[in-house]
Amino acid sequence: MPKDGSTEAGGLAVALEGALKQNGGLWFGWSGKIVGNASEQPEIVQAGNITFAVVDLSQKDYDEYYAGFANRALWPICHYRLDLLQIDRHDTEGYFRVNRTFAASLAPLLRPDDLIWVHDYHFIPFASELRKLGFNNRIGFFLHIPWPPSDIASALPAYERFLKDLGGYDVIGFHTPQDAENFQQCLVREGIGSAVGAGEHQIDSRRIRIGAFPVGIDTEAFARTAVRGEKNALVRRMQASLAGRDLIIGVDRLDYSKGIKQRIESFSCFIRSNPAFRNRVTYLQITPKSRSDVPEYKRMQREIAEHSGTTNGSLGEVDWTPIRYVNRTVGHAALAGLYRMSRVGLVTPLRDGMNLVAKEFVAAQRPEDPGVLVLSRFAGAAHELDCSVLVNPYDAEACAAAIARALQMPLEERRERWTTMMKRLQTNTVEAWCGQFLACLDGEAELQGEPRRPRERGGSLPLEAAPI
Ligand code: UDP
Repeated sequence: MPKDGSTEAGGLAVALEGALKQNGGLWFGWSGKIVGNASEQPEIVQAGNITFAVVDLSQKDYDEYYAGFANRALWPICHYRLDLLQIDRHDTEGYFRVNRTFAASLAPLLRPDDLIWVHDYHFIPFASELRKLGFNNRIGFFLHIPWPPSDIASALPAYERFLKDLGGYDVIGFHTPQDAENFQQCLVREGIGSAVGAGEHQIDSRRIRIGAFPVGIDTEAFARTAVRGEKNALVRRMQASLAGRDLIIGVDRLDYSKGIKQRIESFSCFIRSNPAFRNRVTYLQITPKSRSDVPEYKRMQREIAEHSGTTNGSLGEVDWTPIRYVNRTVGHAALAGLYRMSRVGLVTPLRDGMNLVAKEFVAAQRPEDPGVLVLSRFAGAAHELDCSVLVNPYDAEACAAAIARALQMPLEERRERWTTMMKRLQTNTVEAWCGQFLACLDGEAELQGEPRRPRERGGSLPLEAAPI
């Protein structure tokens, strides 16, 4: 989130800001800037009742902590990709060092009754660092990416230290029950924590709550954006350019976890095995670049572009380009309109914490004539969106059959599936997610039926890195 307090349209940032605005509070994180001489002293900007405090990173910290350990060790492991894991002692040290200095930067700003909410894999040891500085505040952690089974997680450098450090939190939240279960299994197998009740574990002298809190979107707002999106200039140009063909849409940040290469293969398999659909569908893949300073991402960028080019070369015709592959970011207004005009949303990550695109696609549909979501069973969203057409993204033939089924699904079945999923999204909104997590974190007062004590400055304190 920019330090001036403005937010992108991202639902998560908006929800967190909403939670902060309610009681007032402090947002602390990385400024997104890399500077020669990074100061521990945060830069502070007041925006209404929210204080934004941000710190810069030095190039060394950025390389070791962010591009290094977070993105080359934690990210691949948490996405079950041991083959892409890169272990480097300096990166590991850098990760713990930055967490320590971040905790020291935040410390002078903390008050004893602040609730602290830490976000994502960049800050796993953060609570433990604050505890070392003497803070007894309630501290919660939410992991926005998956947590793998212990056989995979244990390949993480400093694995035991990570598990022990997580014991510094009071509440640890995951997107799915499966992730929470994997984590509990890790604690038990390493002999670091033991179950002491439903969802509660004892780690040393601390009792922590572990649970699934599936993040949502601002469903109604997104649905409204989609209605408005129909009039968006880009959406209208896209509609005209389809010349009556059905649209299949994929939207993913460029990342190996998203299964884009496999998806192109599945689409190609679909066209080859369903010749009747030749020249009758267009597959639009919107893929903003990400993490281009990590070499694997650069390589992948080239590979996927080549793969879509080769596929178009072999399948296409003079008046038909089957795949339109776009390496740029599309704003929410146009994106929502594009989802709405699509017959099929193809969301087939090989592994994903939640996948908000899947939820946005459902929210954007026309109730009277909704498109069909084809969703990977390995996306966290599959737990809630089980009325989508669930697929194994590694199986190109099965995915091809699912695309064919989605395109031919009768209206009544589409409506039934969509209605069930939409109801769920209307209940499990991002606001509800925020409220549930914070209520659990603030649980002691609630469990004892005590009214919540008003805080002088306010309660929640989400901590986030700059966009990944
Ligand atoms: N997004 C966007 N424009 C794009 C591509 C993606 O606004 O061109 C947004 C998308 O609408 C969604 C988010 O980026 O809100 C992606 O979230 P998701 O959970 O699907 O994946 P992540 O990138 O967090 O792994």
